[in-house]
Amino acid sequence: MAEEILGLTFDTKKDGWNTSAGFIKREIAMPVLDEQKNPKDAFCVVLKITYAGVCGTDRGIFKREVFKNLIESSLENEQKTTRILGHEFLGEVVLLGSKANEQRSQKISIGTAVSGDSHITCGQCYQCKIGQNNVCTNELILGISIDGIFAQYVKLPAKNLFAVDLNLIRPQIASIMDPFGNAMHAVSKFQPKDQTVAVFGTGAIGLFAIAILKHFGAKKIIAIDVNLENLKLAEKMGADHSLLADESIAKNILSLTENIGIDVCMEMAGPLSSVLNSFAATRRGGQVVLFGLKDGDFTIPKFSQIITKGLTIYGVIGRRIFETWEASHNLLCDKSNGVQEKIWEVILKKGEGTIIDFNSYNKEDFEKSMKEYPKIIFKL
Ligand SMILES: [Zn+2]
Ligand SMILES: [Zn+2]
Repeated sequence: MAEEILGLTFDTKKDGWNTSAGFIKREIAMPVLDEQKNPKDAFCVVLKITYAGVCGTDRGIFKREVFKNLIESSLENEQKTTRILGHEFLGEVVLLGSKANEQRSQKISIGTAVSGDSHITCGQCYQCKIGQNNVCTNELILGISIDGIFAQYVKLPAKNLFAVDLNLIRPQIASIMDPFGNAMHAVSKFQPKDQTVAVFGTGAIGLFAIAILKHFGAKKIIAIDVNLENLKLAEKMGADHSLLADESIAKNILSLTENIGIDVCMEMAGPLSSVLNSFAATRRGGQVVLFGLKDGDFTIPKFSQIITKGLTIYGVIGRRIFETWEASHNLLCDKSNGVQEKIWEVILKKGEGTIIDFNSYNKEDFEKSMKEYPKIIFKL
């Protein structure tokens, strides 16, 4: 008789993509490790989830705007209909497979507090073999193409977990190291020191990027968004200027740089208009970091300008596993830089309204919270 636990899910048959919305609360089976039946369980752990961050991706799934095909096709491959959602987490190891530490550099044991990467990599493809597992050919994404972590207990491959030091990092912050790592990875593409950097899009990851840029000595940080409330947060995170994204945005940005242009533009929002503005605002010879993601085909007018201006463009996905995690953990755990406290006070409002009780989740209240705060976290 399998024990039942609580999970937030989407079910292709019972809910239907077009006939439902939100995360659907369900009783799900308690995960177990059974190495006799599933030899791969030896490399897995079961975690008791303590905090779970809600990503922009989760917001998109909540509204049924993104990842329909990937969720449906992956469920079909697994020959089941229910997907457990969510991918940002902090948990405690409660069951440990007999070979869980074999593919790990950091040792974990029962009781270890861990976060972990939302991209489950294969370890076999060309990229995995040359140490570029963030672009694994066969990656599975928690809460999308494989069951995620919006549940009281989850089973995960041990190799994806990163042990955190809860003496130095708040558990709520430890649970959102995955998106913080996105910002760290994006900033790692260039040298921020003494550079003028524009951040297009000040959702949670854009806001993290601003704090990181400030810490690494960017000369001038310009935040751009359509949302005035988020721009206020951007200033509190360290932006020197905040600009509303309207038709004259590229011109307004240039006027802040004596018409030279920006050294590095970070596009963290995704719409075509924002991508084009980031190209337009970058100085000759400057760099553009593209992180924001939207579906569909984009047309780039005056494409040749990218070449004639001599721009360098980076596409950034995920985090380098575990290089980015180690850098993020070091930065957040060093209290002297103030980055962790800024996230806690400015983005998470010291937990007021931003930390939601998982067991009493309901769609209506959750929707209100999503509108009000750039980042919310479930407490389990
Ligand atoms: Zn995410
Ligand atoms: Zn791979």
